[in-house]
Amino acid sequence: MEAPSAPRKVRVAILGSGPAGLTAAIYCSRANLAPLVIGGVPAGGQLMITTDVENYPGFPEGIQGPELIERFRAQAARFGTQFLDANVTAVDLTKRPFRLTVGADTTVLADSVIVATGANARWLDLPSEQRLRGHGVSACATCDGFFFKEKALVAVGGGDSAMEEALFLTKFASHVTVVHRRGELRASPIMQARAREHPKISFLLHSEVVEVLGSANVEGVRIRHLPTGKEQVLPAQGLFVAIGHDPASEVFRGALDLDERGYIVTHEITRASVDGVFVAGDVYDHRYRQAVTAAGLGCMAALDAEKFLAGHHERPAATAAPTPYTRKGKSRQVRAA
Ligand code: NAP
Repeated sequence: MEAPSAPRKVRVAILGSGPAGLTAAIYCSRANLAPLVIGGVPAGGQLMITTDVENYPGFPEGIQGPELIERFRAQAARFGTQFLDANVTAVDLTKRPFRLTVGADTTVLADSVIVATGANARWLDLPSEQRLRGHGVSACATCDGFFFKEKALVAVGGGDSAMEEALFLTKFASHVTVVHRRGELRASPIMQARAREHPKISFLLHSEVVEVLGSANVEGVRIRHLPTGKEQVLPAQGLFVAIGHDPASEVFRGALDLDERGYIVTHEITRASVDGVFVAGDVYDHRYRQAVTAAGLGCMAALDAEKFLAGHHERPAATAAPTPYTRKGKSRQVRAA
């Protein structure tokens, strides 16, 4: 049996390789901290399954999500960032250096940690949905839409993701029905308008999916109209679930303060409940959740980590009081809009 390799010692370990983690890496590497990005598998975060990004400043023609990530990564590498595209499976944050287990048996010792692990797609949690995942049920139109040429599809959700998924699916599908549980959409006006005006998209509001039908592949979706309780079966060959995300914070349960939904609680914007641990992006921010805000938080976390390492915060680990950051008396732990 191979002996586990010796622990790798770094000044800053950055967990996650989306806009938050990679921006933190750009700043930390330019500060000569030689950060190690433990990027997760798959690396790159949610932008890797996004097509056109039209709202990231500096790209007036828009840019594809994976290309934007590739550019972030190249910029971080240029200044000496190291990458480990693997998952952190356990953490010990009780003393410094912090001990991170990566994969089965790689140990990383880090003087400071920036957590930018992002969030994962949420599912409806129907047994039929889980059974048919990969057989017509998907949470990623950009990954799977191509397989549904001239098919009738259902997209679930009322936010920007659902509109984006539905619009993307019209490139392939014969028709897309958006099913949303309320009478109003949550999506931004411009995305709503694009979806509403699209000839291949229709809406079933006040409705929920109660069952995905089909034995080997999706053949239809049973939908309940919530005010009346009436059910109908919509023939469809695919179901795309776009109902939001959950923070990827499980590995920090018991090690850092999390809120009731699993988002990491911070004070002074980026500081977690353990001194020397900083947080950026969707694993903490459930309000804005944009690539550009994640990048901004990554920058802030890096600057705070740099200051911490420069010796401005000499308290021992695990003593920071998790006082919520407040501005004009409002808690930073804002509810989703
Ligand atoms: P979101 O805004 O939280 O919307 C989630 C939607 O799913 C809501 O309409 C919600 O219904 C519905 N939903 C949640 N749980 C459900 C369940 N169990 N069953 C049925 N429906 C459920 O999430 P998002 O659409 O992923 O967007 C997240 C953030 O990313 C937003 O800030 C958004 O602006 C941004 N984003 C932007 C773009 C873009 O600009 N191109 C694209 C994608 C995402 P309720 O409305 O009833 O709560």
